[in-house]
Amino acid sequence: MITIRNLTFKYRTKDMFDNVDMDIEKGKITSIIGPNGSGKSTLVKILVGLYRYNGKIEINNIPLLKDNRKEIRKNIGVVFTNPDNQFVAETVMDDIAFTLENMNYKKIDIRKKIEEVSKYLGIYDILECNPHDLNSNQKQLVSLASALVHDPKILILDEALTMLDPYDKEKILKILKELNSKGLTILNISHDIEDTLISDKIYVLDKGKIVLSGTKEEVYKEEDKLHKLGFELPFMVELSNRLMFYDLIEHVIYDMEEMVDILWK
Ligand code: ADP
Ligand code: MG
Repeated sequence: MITIRNLTFKYRTKDMFDNVDMDIEKGKITSIIGPNGSGKSTLVKILVGLYRYNGKIEINNIPLLKDNRKEIRKNIGVVFTNPDNQFVAETVMDDIAFTLENMNYKKIDIRKKIEEVSKYLGIYDILECNPHDLNSNQKQLVSLASALVHDPKILILDEALTMLDPYDKEKILKILKELNSKGLTILNISHDIEDTLISDKIYVLDKGKIVLSGTKEEVYKEEDKLHKLGFELPFMVELSNRLMFYDLIEHVIYDMEEMVDILWK
């Protein structure tokens, strides 16, 4: 879905990327993790066409160039860490409508699309509220609705789960998994390794370089390398490893409910 080849990018005062290659596969959940300052948000800004870069990027088989970034953005939905910085309107309804108005949707279609997405995400009842008055989970769902309302092919989350408490995070992860099973490609970016449990593939970024990549099984095996970058193994992996040591389970279990089920038996 996204192919990145020889990506090179410099800020005026700083070399950021030097010949980076990456593949975000269609229909998969890919995570990029890295410490603060490793270049994750810079990459997102490049992907939505905000920065000029050297190298080759294709999104849904369209080369990412300055003059077609509007076309490219139709394929993408983005959610950032702090939804408050993204709200543009006085009501949730108008806020979600904003994406579609920018894409010249007809009024009647806008209404239909908002109804659809807000019912799906469970925020239909708060469409008339001011987004700033909502709790953090609702805010993040509104941001997600704005990112999804135009049916993008790929959803990019830039630390979108960071501000949520574990319970809300779990709920949103479930929604993401379900959207993915319906065909949405997801690029999930985080500095927290716990957020990578739902991924098919993980890239670990450090100072603009990919230092580790592979399936989550492959990446979680590299405990030493992860430690050096300041990452512990995700809790469920750590727990599984210990339980396997005592022969209580046979393989790593990523889902807490599944773990409880198996131990209960
Ligand atoms: P991350 O999202 O992984 O925390 P960023 O992509 O935000 O990292 O930043 C990567 C590096 O680039 C950091 O060292 C940051 O200070 C620097 N940086 C970010 N934005 C700019 C900018 N507009 N000009 C110069 N340097 C920047
Ligand atoms: Mg960032």
